[in-house]
Amino acid sequence: NPNVVLQFQITAFGDGERLMVTRDVSRIHHLEKMRQDFVANVSHELRTPLTVIKGYLETFIDTLNSDQPHLKRGLSQMHQQTQRMELLINDLLLLARLESDDKERTMTPVSVPKILRQIHNDALAINESKQHKIILDIDTNLIIYGDENELRSAFSNLMMNAIKYTPENGRIELRWWADEEGVYLEVEDDGIGIDEKHLPRLTERFYRADQSRHAKSGGTGLGLAIVKHVLLHHDAKLEIVSDPGEGSVFTCRFPTRLMVKKENQSVA
Ligand code: ADP
Repeated sequence: NPNVVLQFQITAFGDGERLMVTRDVSRIHHLEKMRQDFVANVSHELRTPLTVIKGYLETFIDTLNSDQPHLKRGLSQMHQQTQRMELLINDLLLLARLESDDKERTMTPVSVPKILRQIHNDALAINESKQHKIILDIDTNLIIYGDENELRSAFSNLMMNAIKYTPENGRIELRWWADEEGVYLEVEDDGIGIDEKHLPRLTERFYRADQSRHAKSGGTGLGLAIVKHVLLHHDAKLEIVSDPGEGSVFTCRFPTRLMVKKENQSVA
């Protein structure tokens, strides 16, 4: 029966005996699937009305006379909030898709350096007001098997966080390197850092290290949950090292078995 999900736990004792416990977790799985479907459906349904509201607001803002500054300011604020809602809905939808096991994953050879160059360029463009120094350090041209769109989302979330949580004139480094144990994507910043007590829960949905700070940062609280799920699909691990006031390093380690074996893959 495809609807029955069983969980087995085997315990070995010193005298060679084994104890096997079988649990029927079908109901938990079913409820979890319902939750995921519900979030995906609601997010999808909210998109259309929001697009209409945003479209009208843009038209009103463009056509409004300059002798109505209050109205214009109010409409601009409403427009900003619709943009926030749009980001939230898109992230919710992406996360719901990532969490569901239904999707056929397309694991193709992905050039991470290419993705990183795009992310680096985008970051330079949006970062102007904060004057960060953003450095791209590509140490290997190694290609890995992966889902290109998912990887792009994960890496750009890490980059956007580095920009958000690093004050003006900070330094951010985006690195891609390899050793015998894996290939690594690393985002390092010298920003506000994270207190150790928050680290274990950071990749939970809507978990924030600091509520008040978060409100100003404009994030959705879903970025690291997205990163976690993308890495899970790639059998990769996320490591976070951070010091409050000093900065943070987010490292994604991809296993060597994802590397595409190719002759003459030289260091860039
Ligand atoms: P958000 O939309 O709030 O940024 P995320 O899931 O991306 O949501 O991150 C969760 C929390 O982790 C953030 O609210 C912030 O407190 C903390 N965080 C993430 N990245 C960094 C970083 N580079 N520096 C400091 N804090 C960070």
